[in-house]
Amino acid sequence: MWFLSPTHIYQEVRATDLKYKNRVRSRISNLKDPKNPGLRKNVLAGAIELQRIASMTAEEMASDELKQLRNTMTQEAIREHQMAKTGGTTTDLLQCGKCRKKNCTYNQVQTRSADEPMTTFVLCNECGNRWKFC
Ligand SMILES: [Zn+2]
Repeated sequence: MWFLSPTHIYQEVRATDLKYKNRVRSRISNLKDPKNPGLRKNVLAGAIELQRIASMTAEEMASDELKQLRNTMTQEAIREHQMAKTGGTTTDLLQCGKCRKKNCTYNQVQTRSADEPMTTFVLCNECGNRWKFC
């Protein structure tokens, strides 16, 4: 691992030997992670400075795939939160695509800028199916 100079990490950590070893180990396992070719590629291409990789958190080193997943989960959480906060409006005008029942709760949310149309989030009270439309 010519690009993973221990000096960089040591300077960054300035901690006990054990902590340093663990840190190096976690860096190496991250760089070797086959699910995370982006990180290795970035390092090799010099996109991520060596100094920086020593101070990167696990979060920052997570693969794009994981980041994507986390993003989606955050979006879901926001949606859930908005739904829970306002309670939503119960309607029998919307039909669930899954169970075909007409027992839904909907919520209109301004997802982006104010001049864009509202997004309607729908929750099926029967089967828990969720969908959205603009
Ligand atoms: Zn349903």
